[in-house]
Amino acid sequence: MKKVLALALAVVMIASAMVLTGCGEKKNDEKTYIIYSDNAFAPFEYLDESTGKYVGVDMDIMAAVAEDQGFKYEMKNEGFDPAIGAVQAGQADAMIAGMTITDERKEKFDFSEPYFDDGQVIVAKEGVTLDDLKGKTVAAKTSTVGGEYAESIKDEYGFTINYYEGSDNMYQAVLAGTDVACVEDFSVIGYAIKSGKVDLSIISEEPANVKGYGFAVKKGENAELLEKFDAGLKNIKENGKLKEILAKYGY
Ligand code: GLN
Repeated sequence: MKKVLALALAVVMIASAMVLTGCGEKKNDEKTYIIYSDNAFAPFEYLDESTGKYVGVDMDIMAAVAEDQGFKYEMKNEGFDPAIGAVQAGQADAMIAGMTITDERKEKFDFSEPYFDDGQVIVAKEGVTLDDLKGKTVAAKTSTVGGEYAESIKDEYGFTINYYEGSDNMYQAVLAGTDVACVEDFSVIGYAIKSGKVDLSIISEEPANVKGYGFAVKKGENAELLEKFDAGLKNIKENGKLKEILAKYGY
């Protein structure tokens, strides 16, 4: 009899512990995904100094997709290279950071469908030409396809590469004369030039290696989050919300 009572008590205790810790069917809905991003990559993600919040195309897409699919998430705007590291280390569930979908990256990441297309351009002070790169240093951003592009053309143009963590550090280095030019995604530097924030010009002709931007998870992980993102992206493409977000930032 005592044994039966003890057993009954144990069952009650386990059941209430499950209720208190939130175990059970609703678990999935309550997960808060950790999403990393860049921190100075306008108009995709940048600090709105008037509110102290990160805003931009990627931030709005993330919010719209999460609302459409009913999941919770927390953004961490730490920079591009830190975001890559966090996803690979399993500290982040995913990243959205104006990230170009490349075959090489597909060995380490699974990507969503693309939501924007862009390629790289070379940027310098007014009057500098491609012939002026010879014997000089060109700025590129760590872990980006801009860096890969710079590596692929450095011998042809005769420059060496200085790497920077952030796009803003890269622009400052060119403005200060530390580097003669930098490599950046066309839409991002175009936005900085248009908004009058950066007094530089695009000196290359067409954007190189134009490809889609995608949301990314670590390869083989978080398939359910990737599925939700793609489902939400499809919906916001169809219902005009994505168009509205792009238009808000001038696209
Ligand atoms: N699109 C570029 C890349 O994927 C740059 C991204 C970024 O700097 N946030 O490498």
